[in-house]
Amino acid sequence: MAVKLDEKLELIFQDVLRRNPGEIEFHQAVREVLETLGPVLVKYPEFAEKKVIQRICEPERQIIFRVPWQDDSGEIHINRAFRVEFNSALGPYKGGMRFHPSVYLGIIKFLGFEQIFKNALTGMPIGGGKGGSDFDPKGRSEGEIMRFCQSLMTELYRHLGEYTDVPAGDIGVSGREIGYLFGQYKRITNRYESGVFTGKGLAWGGSLVRKEATGYGTVFFAQEMLKARGDSLEGKTVVVSGSGNVAIYAIEKAQELGAKVIGCSDSGGIVVDEQGIDLELVKRIKEVERRRISVYAEERQGARYIEDGDIWAIPCDVALPCATQNELNGKNAKTLVENGCIAVAEGANMPTTPEGVQIFQDAKIAYGPGKAANAGGVGTSALEMQQNASRDSWSFEHTEMRLEEIMRNIHKSCFETAEEFGAPGNYVLGANITGFIRVARAIDAMGLI
Ligand code: NAP
Repeated sequence: MAVKLDEKLELIFQDVLRRNPGEIEFHQAVREVLETLGPVLVKYPEFAEKKVIQRICEPERQIIFRVPWQDDSGEIHINRAFRVEFNSALGPYKGGMRFHPSVYLGIIKFLGFEQIFKNALTGMPIGGGKGGSDFDPKGRSEGEIMRFCQSLMTELYRHLGEYTDVPAGDIGVSGREIGYLFGQYKRITNRYESGVFTGKGLAWGGSLVRKEATGYGTVFFAQEMLKARGDSLEGKTVVVSGSGNVAIYAIEKAQELGAKVIGCSDSGGIVVDEQGIDLELVKRIKEVERRRISVYAEERQGARYIEDGDIWAIPCDVALPCATQNELNGKNAKTLVENGCIAVAEGANMPTTPEGVQIFQDAKIAYGPGKAANAGGVGTSALEMQQNASRDSWSFEHTEMRLEEIMRNIHKSCFETAEEFGAPGNYVLGANITGFIRVARAIDAMGLI
């Protein structure tokens, strides 16, 4: 059952539904934020008068364009790409690009909307945006990926700039794709504008720790939530969904902090390894050979692969959803709670359905929503921009220390805001309200634009 909205917020939500038909993930993301903003409008009536929420719900600019490209056999393909420049009250639009066949405007808008609050939570000067394409990189050759990226950037470049809009990676977009995208931007503009992209390679303006940042940050957030309850990750069993960028580095940091990770997955199935996941093997399969996670069980004695298996049915103390949106539903949440799970930190964006979130909150387990728990990625992107602006590069230790500090601060402000608004331990409310107030104040200060 969805939480009832007060009258003003219900009207705003109805308007969002009317103006954005069929964009169900966007509706879900907006509703989840509106459900927590009631007390803010009581405390700050000026935000209602000035229609700040309505302004935040409407993207500043939405770009949709055609991407034509040719595959290795000469066949022509036409994809559709998006860049939603959602809100620039706190800085240039910032958010990744996603390449996945499921991408459509509703997914990009949900991600861009969440990004506004997430970026505000980091305390860095970055606005919110997101982009992507329905292009499926799976099974494509290097040449095909390069030609697709070049074609996409041939249109997108005119909307970007280090003071305007700064993309990064997301599902299906990692170092390789960012290289091709940045290369084409540089070629067209004749500018070596390092600060226009983050997640760059280390040899050409990238930052140490950026690759690891989202996964590491998620685990730092989980550790902070456990610390607030007098506990820690030491000796805990952990299950991580996915085996992509976020999942791999969540596994790495959880292991470093003394936890035992016993499961991970990809879209084909799950791997259960009671001895503890061999991360070097996962990295070789996923980062080097770009193969399926089923190969893990073929090469690792004692490990099991279950095709289409349910990752959340593996009993664990801590669950880290790191794959995709709505991958953990009410039934999965119930199973996790019944199996004794005490903490969930989201590396992915909106991986838990509203029913799942309600079950975690009713069970009073520590639940860290993606907006807060996975903000270490974009936080470290902002550190990459700082290094680019000062033509400097920092050590791994220094950058990781800054990331840890960002995550501790996010946890602290979410925790304190939840207490202030009478909902102790509710990180959803804490994250939404903290992020909203930061953006709302900036919007208000800049007049009606
Ligand atoms: P990635 O490297 O492409 O990995 C995605 C992983 O999730 C893969 O293992 C993939 O399996 C799995 N997956 C994707 N769609 C799935 C589906 N429909 N069902 C089951 N598994 C699925 O992407 P990523 O960068 O790790 O991103 C993962 C999540 O973190 C996304 O929600 C993203 O928005 C969020 N996030 C990423 C960053 C970042 O810095 N990269 C920052 C903040 C949040 P297959 O390979 O089989 O598709």
